[in-house]
Amino acid sequence: MLVRPLPRSLDPLPGESLPGYVLRLGHRLDRAPGRIAVLTGLGRQIPQRSTPAVPAGRLLHLPPETAAAFAHATRLSAQEVAGLCLDSVRARYPPVDLTYETGVLRQTSGIAGLASWVFTRSTRYCPQCLAGDGTPIQQTHGAAWQKLWRLPPVFACTAHRRLLLHDCPECRQPVHACQSGSLLPRLHDSTLHPTQCRTTIGAGAHWRAQSVCGARLDSSTRPTTAGRQDPALEPLLVVQHKLLGLLAPGGPPETSSVGQPTTVAQYFLDLRLLVGLLCASWPEGRQSAESWIRVEAIDGHLQRQRQQAADRLQQGRKLSHRLVVGDRPPVESAACGSLLALADQLLALDDPVDTQQRLDPLLARASTQSPWVRHLLHVEANCSPGLRTAIGPHVRTLRDTIGPHAASSSGRSRPAQDHAFGPQHIPQYLPADWYDRHFNDLTGINPRHLRRFASITLMQMAAGRSRPAAARQLGLPPGRGSATSYRVQRWARDNANSTRLHAALEALAGELDAASDLIDYRQRRHALTAWSIPTDNWHQLIADVKQRQRGRASTRTDWSDRKRLAASVLVWARITQGEYRLAPLLADAWPPRRRRELARGTQHVSSWGRTGRPEHHYVALLAALDTYADQLAVRIDAGWTPPPPDQRDIRQPRLRHPAT
Ligand SMILES: [Zn+2]
Ligand SMILES: [Zn+2]
Repeated sequence: MLVRPLPRSLDPLPGESLPGYVLRLGHRLDRAPGRIAVLTGLGRQIPQRSTPAVPAGRLLHLPPETAAAFAHATRLSAQEVAGLCLDSVRARYPPVDLTYETGVLRQTSGIAGLASWVFTRSTRYCPQCLAGDGTPIQQTHGAAWQKLWRLPPVFACTAHRRLLLHDCPECRQPVHACQSGSLLPRLHDSTLHPTQCRTTIGAGAHWRAQSVCGARLDSSTRPTTAGRQDPALEPLLVVQHKLLGLLAPGGPPETSSVGQPTTVAQYFLDLRLLVGLLCASWPEGRQSAESWIRVEAIDGHLQRQRQQAADRLQQGRKLSHRLVVGDRPPVESAACGSLLALADQLLALDDPVDTQQRLDPLLARASTQSPWVRHLLHVEANCSPGLRTAIGPHVRTLRDTIGPHAASSSGRSRPAQDHAFGPQHIPQYLPADWYDRHFNDLTGINPRHLRRFASITLMQMAAGRSRPAAARQLGLPPGRGSATSYRVQRWARDNANSTRLHAALEALAGELDAASDLIDYRQRRHALTAWSIPTDNWHQLIADVKQRQRGRASTRTDWSDRKRLAASVLVWARITQGEYRLAPLLADAWPPRRRRELARGTQHVSSWGRTGRPEHHYVALLAALDTYADQLAVRIDAGWTPPPPDQRDIRQPRLRHPAT
């Protein structure tokens, strides 16, 4: 949709988040935030739906066209628009960098699961900050919802010397929480002030029973669990001060970790590893914690997480990676700040030997859990030189114990994500309709590579296997899978490409998660591994086609066995949604000359069948093959396996022998 400048706009406040800006602008123009999102190009209206679609990912990053449209509508500079998104801190804080997210898919980059280190589903807040500074504009529309409140390492307000809150004091629900992956809840609601709670009370009930909480979150008078006079808060504020300094745009380029200089980004990855280690080994670190560390808050967080895991298992659901290895920092500020403070203390020790002695009991305890060991071996490579020196001996022992393949970059298996679709539901080559719905606007890359790559990635998501293993499961020869990955990854080095690719994959995975009529492609592939059209079926097919042919042509048509095999390849490709070039009948096991001839023949049938004149026999043949394939697919889906090929129908492969 064409975006026009709004009648009036608003200057962003320092540190303001994109959803916060949309709320204030909507309030100023007396429009619902969803309407503002549509008018500024952030989202789109869906026919017959009251709520527009505005993806939550917008708070991290805006694609260039979206950013330009938004700047045009709001009359902000490109720099002001970029500053509203969280990826403006990506050089210092890797989890907000979407290319790292694609890196999860990219097997080689190796930082998995970082997304849990950004709160995209709710936000923390300081009620006193929200109350504003008394200027008329803030008195009218409220103050900024700070973008950094979305980052786990920001757990306190150093200006108001207090811990941040994460839920509404009235309804006790996480603030700005959305089930639907939307930028904000109640996008259609124009009645709320930007600082009011937007939680729907009685969600899921009949709409008449639903209402909005509407509690003001900007009150400075509410009592909180962490009062201003609490002296135990002081050390936590010191840690917060340090972390905010490292996140600041003009902050130091380097810091130190375990006595060695390191980049700020590596330092945050160190913190992430150690917070996970503390959780996995808890209560091992509890004894040595100083009195101001809120150990009860950490106890509470871990208890809730364990309960959540137990509930899911009881419901027969898979555990997400985050729950298995505990790599999700608590949203509750006291627990999160305490864990970060403990981790920071360990990193602040200058002597690697000292650090090693402190870490050893934690590592020993956590390493009794094999998912956590895999996690450690997976992420330690991205940590600072100091921390790697300290944990080096332990890591080497683990690698020696579990073998070189368990965590090497090529053979590494990724933890299974929490998906409802399974490995059996992924075809070798992304079906055209899936591609059209989600990947159609991705340009600059050969669609064939994209379709292969997407299938391999979906297989990875479903099976939690390495990329080569996923490609193998799909029946791709090793060379094809890696060549495709190489091309797509090179193309995805461009930030915009990787963002769009990631979004498309996520959207498709979400669609598959929700679908109830998925096809078992694995069963289809298995059923047809050593299959070709049986000769009696072939003769029936030919008879059908001959009937449709005009008299003279039919006598000249070649109906040799080569054509039967070419037809078999096309039927295989249609049923399994595979690339015909990768059909078992064209596999490396067959002599090269036979493969070349058959590939040429198949290509011939396929292209003439599509583009030939209607009376041409290829057109009739292809139509007959499609019908035949669809009937065969129904039988295979019902559990039928075609009998192995008759020896008369097909010669078995003979390696390195000339074709006969
Ligand atoms: Zn504050
Ligand atoms: Zn509320």
